[in-house]
Amino acid sequence: MNYVLPVSLSAVDSLKVKITAVEAIPVRVPFRVPFKIASGGARPLSEAMIVRIKTDQGIEGIGETQAWRRQGSVDTLASLKCAIDQHLAPHVIGQSPFTLSAIAHRFDEALYSSLYSKAAILDALYDLQGKLLGIPTHVLLGGKFRERIGACAVLMIKDDLEETLDNATEFRERGFRSFTIKVGLDAATDLRNITAIRKRFPNTILRVDANASMGFDEALVLLKKIEMFDIDAAEQMLALWDIDGMAELASRVIIPIMADECLSSDHDLLRVIKARAATVIQTKVAKNGGIWNSRKLWTIAQAAGMRIYPGNHPSTSIATASVVQLAAAWPGPLLDGPFAVRITGAFDGDLVTQPLRVENGEVIVPPGPGLGVTLDESALRSMRVD
Ligand SMILES: [Mg+2]
Repeated sequence: MNYVLPVSLSAVDSLKVKITAVEAIPVRVPFRVPFKIASGGARPLSEAMIVRIKTDQGIEGIGETQAWRRQGSVDTLASLKCAIDQHLAPHVIGQSPFTLSAIAHRFDEALYSSLYSKAAILDALYDLQGKLLGIPTHVLLGGKFRERIGACAVLMIKDDLEETLDNATEFRERGFRSFTIKVGLDAATDLRNITAIRKRFPNTILRVDANASMGFDEALVLLKKIEMFDIDAAEQMLALWDIDGMAELASRVIIPIMADECLSSDHDLLRVIKARAATVIQTKVAKNGGIWNSRKLWTIAQAAGMRIYPGNHPSTSIATASVVQLAAAWPGPLLDGPFAVRITGAFDGDLVTQPLRVENGEVIVPPGPGLGVTLDESALRSMRVD
């Protein structure tokens, strides 16, 4: 195998390694253009928390989560820092990085839900395990099933149609075959955008995403009007509490309904399945508790015959690498996912020395150990906010 090996230890020595510290570092990552969806105002930057897990052998693991503060995320940078430092880190320090399942169990006893804060530590443990052994995280998850992960392009809400079409053309020229069009601010604009994009790109996969912003009636009207455009899925049209409304919508339109914001835990997913409120799920590594917890959702969804749309909140290559590692080892079909706006060009910077690469609309699974990315110390210094 062609892995870039740092100072990895033998498997026997790795098992003796002890975790000595967990450091949570708040950062702000600027968007190139403000991030605009139907819920909340435009955002100039994304707030993230980088976790470094240090060991007595000098090898460390990294993970990332976000303080997204909407769409089902209640955390702020301060609350994430408090959860990690005071409630989770004590269950990690002194432990072996290879006791991830026991640590995840203790996390659930220590702090209810709080999947966003758990995600960064659990993913950092996967990174650390891989770095200690000199193998990529996807090997720990069963081995590589695919070399490249299909990515979709997300088209933000813009006032100007030509600007939206130019944006889509640029993505198409870079090889992207799937578009997710953000909707939900204004019905006339939504219909105009979807009509124009379908006409310009007859052979692309189109999805719409209202980010939980629409009422039942307006969602039904919009979906009925766009049924003719061969829409692959309608993502979280309704408020995240309205599972019954989603089920009714699913029964009244031919466009498959996707659940995202309403889906945090495995129990949420069971509720969606029982109600037949969606046939597609979107997971995000931070929202759903990292690789460890997201994989449970994928397994349940697959058993329920649902399609899986893998992704994350806008994030750096660290959180993106987590979902890419999970996807690389996943032995079932996946939709082209909305991976970090970083790799689709919306962030100005990154926090790793070699950002993930996208070729022809696909993310290349990085060959290096762990998550396959290395922290860029100077970028971290420039973006940290404590
Ligand atoms: Mg979504």
